[in-house]
Amino acid sequence: MNRIASIIVVMTLCVPAVASAGEDAMKAKTLSRSQVDEKYKWKIEDLYPSRQAWEKDLAQLNKELAAVGKCRGRLGRGVKVLARCLDEGFSLLKRLYRLYAYAMRLHDQDARDTDGQELKSIIQKTSTEVDARMSFVEPEILRIPPARLKKWRRSRLLADYRHYLDNITRRRRHILPADQEKLLAQAGNLAAVPTNVYQTLNTVNLPYPEVTLSSGEKVKLTAAMYTRYRALDNRADRLTVFRAFWGVYRAFRESYAALLAGQVNRDHYFAEARKYKSDLAAALDVNNVPTSIYLNMIEQIHQARPLLWRYLKVRARLLGIKDLGYHDLYPSIVPRVEMKVPFDQARQVLLEALAPLGRDYTGVLEQAFGQRWADVYPTEGKRSGAYSDGAAYDVHPYVLLNYNDDYESLSTMAHEFGHAMHSYLSNKNQPFAMADYPIFVAEVASTCNENLLRLHLLKKESDRQKRLFLLGQHLENFRTTVFRQALFAEFELKIHQLASQGVPLTADKLDELYLQLLRYYYGEAEGVIKIDPLYAVEWAYIPHFYYNFYMFQYTTSFIAATSIAENIFAGDGQARQAYLKMLKAGGSKYAVQLLKMAGVDMTAARPYQVAFESMKRTLDEIEKLTAE
Ligand SMILES: [Zn+2]
Repeated sequence: MNRIASIIVVMTLCVPAVASAGEDAMKAKTLSRSQVDEKYKWKIEDLYPSRQAWEKDLAQLNKELAAVGKCRGRLGRGVKVLARCLDEGFSLLKRLYRLYAYAMRLHDQDARDTDGQELKSIIQKTSTEVDARMSFVEPEILRIPPARLKKWRRSRLLADYRHYLDNITRRRRHILPADQEKLLAQAGNLAAVPTNVYQTLNTVNLPYPEVTLSSGEKVKLTAAMYTRYRALDNRADRLTVFRAFWGVYRAFRESYAALLAGQVNRDHYFAEARKYKSDLAAALDVNNVPTSIYLNMIEQIHQARPLLWRYLKVRARLLGIKDLGYHDLYPSIVPRVEMKVPFDQARQVLLEALAPLGRDYTGVLEQAFGQRWADVYPTEGKRSGAYSDGAAYDVHPYVLLNYNDDYESLSTMAHEFGHAMHSYLSNKNQPFAMADYPIFVAEVASTCNENLLRLHLLKKESDRQKRLFLLGQHLENFRTTVFRQALFAEFELKIHQLASQGVPLTADKLDELYLQLLRYYYGEAEGVIKIDPLYAVEWAYIPHFYYNFYMFQYTTSFIAATSIAENIFAGDGQARQAYLKMLKAGGSKYAVQLLKMAGVDMTAARPYQVAFESMKRTLDEIEKLTAE
């Protein structure tokens, strides 16, 4: 019953693949909320008509919380008691999410609003209390003798909770006796030290360098500024940026190595304490993902490297560079094109692009536009970026956008409505206890929509520049989301394996390993690129190495989504049916089963072949278009 954390994760995970161009232009014309037509603002009253109504519901929640407390110590008494307590617990969570959703909408639409600030603070405190007061549920369920629970599980009373119960009990053999569990829990503060110091070092202490560009402009290269300036068109400037930025990380590499080693040892300690075969097995077991998925991913990406090399050669040719370096990977290879897409037009484009998903899907989407699920335009005090939140189970999902009339905004909109439709279909077809879909499949729904949009636009577009732009975006997504993330995932696996064998993770060792992988993935031996050893320290810059085997999901989601979208776009009716079935299944099954349901077996080569076929076709066309 710990879904509170997962809402937050789904919302932050949503980093659209396309870069946020035109930020400055956006700021210049930021409107106040009252200047925006109602129809472009989300309908928050669907959650509660007023603050008073919200407060009344909060009082009801507090009453329920007291009632649920009475279940403590009684869950093992019988199937009826267990079912009633779970009914009460989940009903309380449902109410909590709706309350939470209202507070967040109010706060996110204008952070200066005092109601929003107050409600957010109240509901966060309430959530923590709910978490604490209900923390007895899972341990008590685990104390029910397995044979008895197995029998109870078949009861109709527990039908909605079968998957929930299975998911708790499947890890039974990795749960330790109570006194040992207590020791592990007490180590929590210590275990957080590497991450905390890593963040402090990056945000407070690291002396980010200042460089002077050829234009005379002086730039302080913070991590955020680096991501902008590494893509400069002027090659000499890029080289200046790279040398200065990585020089700083290099100066601190021993500290970074000690921190990363600390983190890896931490993960290893918990994996071993819980009797897992490996750190990887322990991390993936949280979502019941078999390690074969991870290993297959690495294997498939290795085989596909020649496609990356082909892309890098196109890149070198279009940039007019003979000796491609690591600092040449970010500038755009095609001229930027302005694709102006006002929101009213974007709605139409999206409906057309998603038509291959069928009338049932687009019908709901049309309804979503009409019923104001989305808050469209940037306004003063509004949260930046974009997200979808489908937590208010019996209302509807909400989508936050900062729509800016361009292609990036349109693509982000496709992405977020992918999440929203997934939530809607899941909430509509599953009981609350099984509606929350796993992270592992969440980004499939969003990325599938981005892919369908791209395929739709390419089908219609005859303008050479615009085609090049769309093709270039797709190739960049492959480079950054597939190959780059796979490289990170492989590095992560290797350092965990080395540490488990007792090899000290020194700065030299980490540099050596990382540089080897860079050269292997980007094809140095094949003459595609030459990588300066200075960039071997890039491992120190990636915060995700502190997330315990998280990054491989970027690759697997992208591959699964691309494969599904390509099949559906090609008119494969079975693929469409299977995919919709998965969306409707919500969280009623484990992630891997859900994907299999959608016709995608991530332990096999097939989805990779379909996705890489799409990359190959993209390369074919971009080579042809730029041959003259
Ligand atoms: Zn997302």
